[in-house]
Amino acid sequence: MRYGSIVLAAFLVASGTSRSLFAQSAGDIDPRIVALIASISQDRLGATLKKLESFETRNSLSSTDSPTRGIGAARQWILDEMKSFSPKLHVSFDTYQVPKQGRITRDVELRNVMAILPGRSPRRIYVSGHYDTVARAGGQSASNSSDGPRDPDAPTPPPADPMAPVDNLAPGVNDDGSGTALTIELARAFSQSGIDFDATLVFMCHVAEEQGLVGARLHAQKAAAEKIPIEAILNNDIVGGDTGGNGIVDGATIRVYSEGPEDSPSRSLARFVQRWGARYVPSHRVRLMARPDRFGRGGDHSAYNQLGFTAVGFRESRENFTRQHDVRDTYAGISLNYLAQNARVNAAAAATLALAPPAPGVTSARGQPTISRAPSGYDANLRWTASPGAVAYRIFWREAWGPDWQRDMLVGNVTNVVLPNMQIDDYVFGVAAVDAAGHESTVSAYVTPPRASTPIRTAGQ
Ligand SMILES: [Zn+2]
Repeated sequence: MRYGSIVLAAFLVASGTSRSLFAQSAGDIDPRIVALIASISQDRLGATLKKLESFETRNSLSSTDSPTRGIGAARQWILDEMKSFSPKLHVSFDTYQVPKQGRITRDVELRNVMAILPGRSPRRIYVSGHYDTVARAGGQSASNSSDGPRDPDAPTPPPADPMAPVDNLAPGVNDDGSGTALTIELARAFSQSGIDFDATLVFMCHVAEEQGLVGARLHAQKAAAEKIPIEAILNNDIVGGDTGGNGIVDGATIRVYSEGPEDSPSRSLARFVQRWGARYVPSHRVRLMARPDRFGRGGDHSAYNQLGFTAVGFRESRENFTRQHDVRDTYAGISLNYLAQNARVNAAAAATLALAPPAPGVTSARGQPTISRAPSGYDANLRWTASPGAVAYRIFWREAWGPDWQRDMLVGNVTNVVLPNMQIDDYVFGVAAVDAAGHESTVSAYVTPPRASTPIRTAGQ
């Protein structure tokens, strides 16, 4: 196949009318995704949360010998529950033998619980939460009232008897029963949707987040070593409460944190969540946060970002710190309607991403952005590599000072576009791949690579 290039009329650029001239096509909303989102059940989320609470603790260092209490019973129930949804879903423990280190106070076997819904291609999209819990005297509100934000990686003092299981009550219904219930519900909805996804979807319940993102780090390490093509991780941690500890209620927005700099893959994924969340769940607002996480707090999405994967973290809009890492983190602190809305936003983003072609490549083999001023020396000349399954591309741009795309334009099945008299130094440009049904990839941005400093010798050196 030959991919052509097109030159777009300059008036489009100058007039700023591109959005109205290139209106969204009707195919942008996929009725199958609408049906999938509609199948997300508040009642099921509630039933899962009550079940998770019934284990009393899911501390990663709690007992594993009881069939009804502790981490062993909890992980077995999650495994069995996800196995019951569909024969298409491949459910397993992701198991590690972990020697004593950091906040892991004794040798322990740790198990993430993962459900894989195979797609036509091996590229993977994750929806995740952490099923483990912790409760300490005073909880998170005691940590917050100290002088400054705590270092989330700071060591905690060793227990008197490190061999004793940590079995104190730690219901963890919001942290992170909410993210776990959301992940389990999406495993059900996606596996029962009948949709043939291009990407492989993974529904992951991480363990030992509270010991320093340990389950996520272990899985990310393995994925990096085995070169597993993880494209995106949507991590949900504390997404079930709509009322802050200060009494402020917000059941209509969700915060999404991402790793910088501004056009990193993580930021691009965050913008994608906002764009497609708004399209399918317009009643819920995605508030993007241009920082990795809240002050002094950590989450599993960072474990993936730190190893070069692309992850974002969903966080409820208004937190109640008295209900975190505390025996008060119970079902009473949950708004099921709010949790269901957050699940729908996740579903919209994950389904669109899993049906869309992969994002186009916008760098040369030498890592340089494939953007130039040719042919006149004053034009914006964008090149990209074709994405399998794409029938069109959407180019995006914005002023070079600003976080959100300001203009976008659908172009045909080409791999080169010239925007006459548009100075590439004044705008950020990006491109997404679009398939025949209107599913769109994340936007690949043209980014200036960092330059190393060249030392200058002075006389006598
Ligand atoms: Zn958490």
